[in-house]
Amino acid sequence: MLSDMKGTQRKRILIVGGVAGGASTAARARRLDEDAEIVVFDRGAHVSFANCGLPYFVGDVIEDERDLIVATPERFRRRFDIEVRTRSEVTRANPEDKTIEVHGLDDGRRYTERYDALVLSPGAAPIRPPLPGIDLPGIFSVRTIPDTRRIKAWLAQRQARRAVVIGGGFIGLEMAENLARLGLQVAIVERADAVLPPLDPEVAVPVQWHLADKGVDLRLGDSVARFDEGTDGDGQGAGQGAKEGTGALVVTTVSGARLPADLVILAIGVRPETALAVDAGLDLGPRGGIAVDEHMRTSVPDIWAVGDAVEVCHAITGVEVVLPLAGPANRQGRIAAADVCGRPGRFRGVQGTAVCGVFDLTVATTGANEAGLRRAGVTDVARVYLHPGHHVGYFPGARPIHIKLLFRPSDGHILGAQAVGEEGVARRIDVISMAIQMGGTVADLAEAELCYAPQFGAAKDPAGPQIGGPRRS
Ligand code: FAD
Repeated sequence: MLSDMKGTQRKRILIVGGVAGGASTAARARRLDEDAEIVVFDRGAHVSFANCGLPYFVGDVIEDERDLIVATPERFRRRFDIEVRTRSEVTRANPEDKTIEVHGLDDGRRYTERYDALVLSPGAAPIRPPLPGIDLPGIFSVRTIPDTRRIKAWLAQRQARRAVVIGGGFIGLEMAENLARLGLQVAIVERADAVLPPLDPEVAVPVQWHLADKGVDLRLGDSVARFDEGTDGDGQGAGQGAKEGTGALVVTTVSGARLPADLVILAIGVRPETALAVDAGLDLGPRGGIAVDEHMRTSVPDIWAVGDAVEVCHAITGVEVVLPLAGPANRQGRIAAADVCGRPGRFRGVQGTAVCGVFDLTVATTGANEAGLRRAGVTDVARVYLHPGHHVGYFPGARPIHIKLLFRPSDGHILGAQAVGEEGVARRIDVISMAIQMGGTVADLAEAELCYAPQFGAAKDPAGPQIGGPRRS
């Protein structure tokens, strides 16, 4: 226990997990409390790294692994006076005596630390379904820098030519793009009938066409039954090379397709890491994440939780959701730190604002989609489809954006929007996202004052007067 110069005890803030949520909590806590002792524990070798950049490191867009490190433990110490202990797994939290148990993964040391405030930001683990062959070499998930090192080493050693990506969500599509960039022939197996579940299926169609144009073998409405070692004897499967039967693995799908692969990427979603929380008696919510209130407090005093491990309220549907996105994790970290330090702050919920690159396309979404609204019992819904150019047609190079807007016809409130296109997509969705956060209506979009010059947009912008103008449902 450290003491300050006056002999009073310093508040001890311990944080489990040092990436998006944990690092934000630590930095914000230091800004709000110069005296607190802040210690971050992470079982990995890195903290504050850019997991969002990992697919692009695999694809050599980010060439130097060091560029993925946003802040090192040394920087935390020098800049913020925050102690970071990597390769240190927190194995137990004991709320009765406000301690945690730590296992040093390098030296095997086990020790106990006392806390005044404990913040959990352990993230979410990639789902590995218990399918036959799931533990075969060559089947990878993407969560950490060491994961990507293993993938890169495998690609090089095997001179891989074919990959099968399981899951057509954001991470699956980013991995597919980056593996294709390296020259691999890529197949995607997706159980749903469309890629990118946050989109309504008709909005996903241009993305699927684009994937096909890029040579990706998209298997929608199918899922994996088993993985086997060896080659595809019957010559069915992914790409032109399939008949050669040289794949290290064969992915057999429920429909009976046999896809040869030198490498398999599992990207079927993540599950909140809740073992520590459950063990400590914290309540979980209906979706299996750690239950928290609007201050990110858990059900147990002096323990907060943030990030992918928690479930929070969806601002549009009011339904509890687990939403693994970096922005909410960072915001929640700041809210938790404020509450730990006795400052005001309230998490307003999530609305699922997300963006993803898929080869030459950008896909972005905010708010609820139609399926989410149906599940939440919201029936008062109208929709607008627009296909404007990303800037005025008379200026060279205008590219179409496909936009779908959902709103409540009874009062005009915006419920969600999705967009796909080559240029200007994220900007439009960000505008609508902010309108939603401010409780805006389609009439507000019609009145929105957005920047304009011919090469950037239109005087009647797609995300403003165009979409908020006269409406169809
Ligand atoms: P994490 O960032 O996962 O950090 C949790 C940390 O806790 C880990 O380092 C883990 O080792 C540590 N930990 C867990 N348990 C313990 C324990 N018991 N003891 C000690 N340490 C422990 N989001 C976006 O918004 N945009 C994107 O483009 C995007 N791309 C992504 C791409 C990939 C490949 C991945 C994997 C994620 C991506 N995300 C993206 C999601 C985003 O990275 C997460 O939502 C965010 O990192 C969650 O932050 P977190 O702090 O909750 O968890």
